[in-house]
Amino acid sequence: MNIAASNGTPAGPTDAPATTSAARTRAAGSDGLSAQLAYLTRVLKVPTMAACWEQLAEQARDQNWSHEEYLAALLARQVADREAAGTTMRIRTAHFPQVKTLEDFNLDHLPSLRRDLLAHLATGTFVAKAENVVLLGPPGIGKTHLAIGLGVKAAQAGHSVLFDTASNWIARLGVAHHAGQLETELKKIRRYRLIIVDEVGYIPFDTDAANLFFQLVASRYEQASIMVTSNLPFGRWGETFSDDVVAAAMIDRLVHHAEVLTLSGDSYRTRARRELLAKDRSHD
Ligand code: ADP
Ligand code: MG
Repeated sequence: MNIAASNGTPAGPTDAPATTSAARTRAAGSDGLSAQLAYLTRVLKVPTMAACWEQLAEQARDQNWSHEEYLAALLARQVADREAAGTTMRIRTAHFPQVKTLEDFNLDHLPSLRRDLLAHLATGTFVAKAENVVLLGPPGIGKTHLAIGLGVKAAQAGHSVLFDTASNWIARLGVAHHAGQLETELKKIRRYRLIIVDEVGYIPFDTDAANLFFQLVASRYEQASIMVTSNLPFGRWGETFSDDVVAAAMIDRLVHHAEVLTLSGDSYRTRARRELLAKDRSHD
């Protein structure tokens, strides 16, 4: 008697149960594969691949993708999710007072703003080159909105960003200075590739504060970017910093590698209010 035949695949009418058991074995195999993929994707910390491999595999079979195409599609999903999560995290840690976008900014209101320049700044390459941006103009013109919008773009381009008002930056540096930790603090702040200093000029600074602000600008010079907004033209920064010499030295470093956008026109806030009032009156 043939031992192999007795242990092997039977022939004839007994075929049916054997096929069922083979199908069961195949199912168990794919279960095993699922478990293995779940384990491997967990170890590699690639949750998107874990969630997508099965559905993408079906698509790959339907559309006859090569193995390489399938692998690339799966990896691309994971990379896209990771980048989006990074952007979300960078926007959260930037501490924007509100998230405002360039897409929500009405350029028709600001014909003086060079669109090509704004588009260039929106690429975030100025951050990679440690260049600065200065937004000057009267209250309500959209400086803070633009600064946040550009900050969001920089975060999307992969740069770490930190936003605060000039007085909060000074307060932070003041605390560090009193604790004898100014250098450490400046170094910590330099880890952010872009810092935004909003509202220079609204509150005048005393000489100590002006010196701290100078240190901040100097510590980032040609190393990391600063974006500053101010309602005052440079000519009046001496008043705000109660020292013309410190102000001049600061402006020198700030604008050496910088785009300076001087915005002029009506306040967006007052214009919106005026338009509302006009509408009200026309309804009377
Ligand atoms: P600034 O910082 O120059 O005082 P803001 O950026 O705070 O002005 O703008 C005042 C308000 O008007 C904000 O709510 C801002 O979103 C809005 N705003 C200003 N300019 C525009 C614009 N061109 N398009 C859309 N909203 C604008
Ligand atoms: Mg503002």
